[in-house]
Amino acid sequence: MVQPGGQLPWVLLDLDGTLLDYDRAEEEAVRRTLAGVGLPADADMVARYRRINARHWSALERGVTTAARLRTERWAELLDATVPDQDRDVGPEVLASSYVEHLAAGAYLLPGAEAAVAELAGAFRIAYITNGLADVQRPRLAASALADLGEVLVISDEVGAAKPAAAIFEAALRAMGGPHPRVVTMVGDSLSADIAGGRAAGMPTVWVAPKEQPWPTDPARRPDHRIGAIGELPALLRG
Ligand SMILES: [Mg+2]
Repeated sequence: MVQPGGQLPWVLLDLDGTLLDYDRAEEEAVRRTLAGVGLPADADMVARYRRINARHWSALERGVTTAARLRTERWAELLDATVPDQDRDVGPEVLASSYVEHLAAGAYLLPGAEAAVAELAGAFRIAYITNGLADVQRPRLAASALADLGEVLVISDEVGAAKPAAAIFEAALRAMGGPHPRVVTMVGDSLSADIAGGRAAGMPTVWVAPKEQPWPTDPARRPDHRIGAIGELPALLRG
């Protein structure tokens, strides 16, 4: 991580879907986990895993499960749905830990991400904010070229609150040394997590989304700017 700079404004960047290709990392990790224990590792299993996982994350965001339960129960549910009891050589715990290991190794940058952050790093201080598990997100960032460009990494699992909750944005501002939120630009691909959360925290916001995605009707989710890809961010912020 770089040395703190003087009075430069900050850019607070979401990781997955904004800088890192989570879909690719997830798909590879699911396939390797299943193949590693001799289970079918096809597109159908990946799709099933994603549906189950999305339900568990939604439950976590509503506070009706915990990160620890989510880790194992998503795999228990996939096994229950696809593999008869008598055919199981391993339990969900083995799959759960194998998956986290594979996922942690999946640091794939989205096109233009590294160049954009490198260019911004001269004029802005860089921080990252991500909803995810610490033992997945820390190694993924560390394995990418982004780690050396940023000063701060805030992970929902460590803070105990996920975007858009105020608590994680407050934690990010504290980690940045307490800048006024108006000099911190929040950049992300999720209207509900990044844009709504950043707005509520008093930050200017940039939504990274292809032009086909409709502009949000809910004022609480309306970004100050939209870019079609992360590569457009330096030009936007330099004005
Ligand atoms: Mg994202």
